[in-house]
Amino acid sequence: MRKLIHSNQFQSYNLLAGAKNYCDEKVGTVKCTTIPGEKKTKDNIPKKGPSKSPPVNLHGWKTYKVGETRRYSPFHFPGQSTVEWVVARLDDVLNWGRKGSMWPLTFGLACCALEMMHYAGPRYDMDRYGMVFRGTPRQTDVIIVAGTVTNKMAPILRKTYDLMPEPRFVVSMGSCANGGGYYHYTYSTVRGCDRIIPVDIYVPGCPPTAEALLYAMLQLQKKVKRMRICQTWYRH
Ligand code: SF4
Repeated sequence: MRKLIHSNQFQSYNLLAGAKNYCDEKVGTVKCTTIPGEKKTKDNIPKKGPSKSPPVNLHGWKTYKVGETRRYSPFHFPGQSTVEWVVARLDDVLNWGRKGSMWPLTFGLACCALEMMHYAGPRYDMDRYGMVFRGTPRQTDVIIVAGTVTNKMAPILRKTYDLMPEPRFVVSMGSCANGGGYYHYTYSTVRGCDRIIPVDIYVPGCPPTAEALLYAMLQLQKKVKRMRICQTWYRH
């Protein structure tokens, strides 16, 4: 009988020891003790406190110890291949270069063009963002359609856009370029330049202020920053 009790105690001790190991690894809340009269060994002495470095946190991300080297990129996630990571960083570098040198084409069509010139002047100073007006579509990244697009001007606008190298962007400036504006119901006006070319950013107003155009160009920079040309090429 005594032997039986002893064997029962032994079994429950084994269960406790199993629970102890599990809890120490996962949660660290249950404290296990040795059975009275049992000899203390390194296996049955409970550890003090919870485990200090669980392997992963609730979201499945690796938990780094203090002083451990971590990856530079905040965009890396578990399961991502190294090639994808490299391609993504390549995109980052290209986008960084692109957004720091957005060269617009001079394409002033009406009164909005004056605000566009104001934006290029010393008060708003677009040069500080790496934006410099160019006179030829071959050397430009973005076309600012500033003013009323007439039926007569529409094929020229399309041709100019086609001459720009990829990737190219379009900023539609003012009510006239956005949707015809005051001249929406006239016989000669195109009711929005997006009927001719694809538009990335619309700037509302008649005329929009130079600050509004500046804000639009900053929005365009944000858009360029998120482009994934290399990643799309790699995945398809
Ligand atoms: S939106 Fe107003 S300011 Fe701009 S071109 Fe048209 S009428 Fe002129």
